[in-house]
Amino acid sequence: MGVLDFYRSAASAYKRLKSLNAFILERYRECEAEVLMSQERRENGKLLGTVDGKLYAVKDNLCTRSITTTSGSRFLKDYIPPFNATVVDRLSHLGAVLIGKTNLDEFGMGSANLTSHFGPCKSHLSPPIYEHNKDDSVEGSTDVWLVPGGSSGGSAVAVATGMCDFALGTDTGGSVRLPASFCGIVGLKPSYGRVSRYGLIPLASSLDTVGILSTSVDTCATVLDVIAGWDEKDSSTFQVPYHSCSHSVQSISSSSKVLNGKRFGIPKEFLTDDLNPDYIKLIDTVASFIKDRGGNVCTVSLPHTKSATPSYNILCAAEVSSNMAKFTGLPFGYCYSNEAKSCDELFAENRMEGLGPVVQHRIIAGTYFLTYRGRTYYDRALRVRRLIVEDFHRIFSDVDVLLTPTTISKAPLNTEIKRLGPVESCVYDQLTVPVSLAGLPAISLPLGVSHDGLPLGIQLVCNRFQEETLLRTAKSLEISCYLL
Ligand code: GLN
Repeated sequence: MGVLDFYRSAASAYKRLKSLNAFILERYRECEAEVLMSQERRENGKLLGTVDGKLYAVKDNLCTRSITTTSGSRFLKDYIPPFNATVVDRLSHLGAVLIGKTNLDEFGMGSANLTSHFGPCKSHLSPPIYEHNKDDSVEGSTDVWLVPGGSSGGSAVAVATGMCDFALGTDTGGSVRLPASFCGIVGLKPSYGRVSRYGLIPLASSLDTVGILSTSVDTCATVLDVIAGWDEKDSSTFQVPYHSCSHSVQSISSSSKVLNGKRFGIPKEFLTDDLNPDYIKLIDTVASFIKDRGGNVCTVSLPHTKSATPSYNILCAAEVSSNMAKFTGLPFGYCYSNEAKSCDELFAENRMEGLGPVVQHRIIAGTYFLTYRGRTYYDRALRVRRLIVEDFHRIFSDVDVLLTPTTISKAPLNTEIKRLGPVESCVYDQLTVPVSLAGLPAISLPLGVSHDGLPLGIQLVCNRFQEETLLRTAKSLEISCYLL
């Protein structure tokens, strides 16, 4: 499909599925001129790069110059950044066209997209709930829906419904991989330090990564090539030059022998009691498939996996409390009170009115973990993180790739998540969080479906900075064992 045709079809998908609430802000009309310019460059053989004319959406916690960036919060509902996140700059310079800012859990805190100030984002896979109107729009007609996963759910729904070619999300504890799994698309979380975080409104700075959601591994590789690499504005980016991998990924065909001789490990701790039987079957099938193609699959152990979620919860909250300290309502952000008698009172009132309960809860918990008394928990969580890093380090001398479920089941309903509450719903992150703590690259691939036809993602994990191995392995699985 040509650039212009795709643009029209994407804009019409958006119109029909507006009620899914995937976007906080859309700019289909505003970007039409950019699409036409790209079309002209194509006709004149003067494309700026591989992403020229590609329509992309950006999670609304990544700053976009002169375009509101809210992080899904009332606190930043009117915030217009004067600068672009590095990832946005890199894509735009090469002709990619920004079609909008996607919905998310407030400040990225959540797994279900239920806490945005702008209303929940709903999964497109809730068929009985959505009905076509006469004007071809689709309306949500009940209060029950399938969640798209969080916190990058808006990006996942936008990609899965053809509203864009690809979308950027952010993944701190699983927020790209989980929505990819629930929505049946590909979600790549690069190694920590591979992609610049400059211009990302942080959740937990030692864990945050910018990831890619798309319908194919090839697109993930193409986009990664554009956004990866050292950035002078983010001192945590890796200094060694990044080698483009899209060529080597795209050249893989179904007859390539990528899996032959490759060593896969299935961590036994990832096959938890919470795991749905559909997933157990799927992992077995994928493992047999790999063996049939000459790969070796064995069971491995990552003994500290169980402590990953508690450690993550403490570290994340602590970093949240310090990152959120700047959100006072002065000099930017939500300013509610005119009558406060002191700065402390003003900040407290602004935060109570401007921030949702999940965010407030994390700030309070995190502040405690950084006090003299709470510090013991924080120190222990850091030690556990170190043990988890060492577990992975050890394993990667024996295997090349880890193979795990992305999460424990198909997408749940919003009512199930509400019943669980914000802390218990961490169960959906338990297989993504350990990987985040270790800063490793991982991808969720839509390789299976549940007994009732909803997508199930498989997670592949590689050693730090081995994105090329990860993407090549993912591509060979994607092309040969889709919907096992
Ligand atoms: N659900 C996790 C949390 O709320 C992960 C969020 C994320 O990766 N942004 O912390």
